[in-house]
Amino acid sequence: MSYKTRDGSDWTPVYLTKINPATCIGCGRCYKVCSRDVMHLHGVDEDGKILGIVTEDDEDDFDGELNRKIMLVDNAGACIGCGACSRVCPKDCQTHVAAELIDA
Ligand code: SF4
Ligand code: SF4
Repeated sequence: MSYKTRDGSDWTPVYLTKINPATCIGCGRCYKVCSRDVMHLHGVDEDGKILGIVTEDDEDDFDGELNRKIMLVDNAGACIGCGACSRVCPKDCQTHVAAELIDA
């Protein structure tokens, strides 16, 4: 499959497939630039167990279990592969895969 921009130029979408939970600092930058609701901030306890979705101003500490926040790709199918999230991540913890490799 080939992809084109509006003027007919070749374009390869690079889809966000995962975020490394060990290196993500939960800064929220990727979420802010994404127009497709692909990822959400989640609370994590000290053992790495996912507690649930949190918002930036959410005061919920999950009954004292909250240890840190990380971004998770929980709606991967909505990604259009624009690559905006990769440009703002300060920790280089995202994995993107070119469209032709995902289709293979
Ligand atoms: S590549 Fe674009 S659409 Fe996909 S998750 Fe990143 S910002 Fe959102
Ligand atoms: S921009 Fe990077 S470090 Fe920040 S929440 Fe997104 S994946 Fe995590």
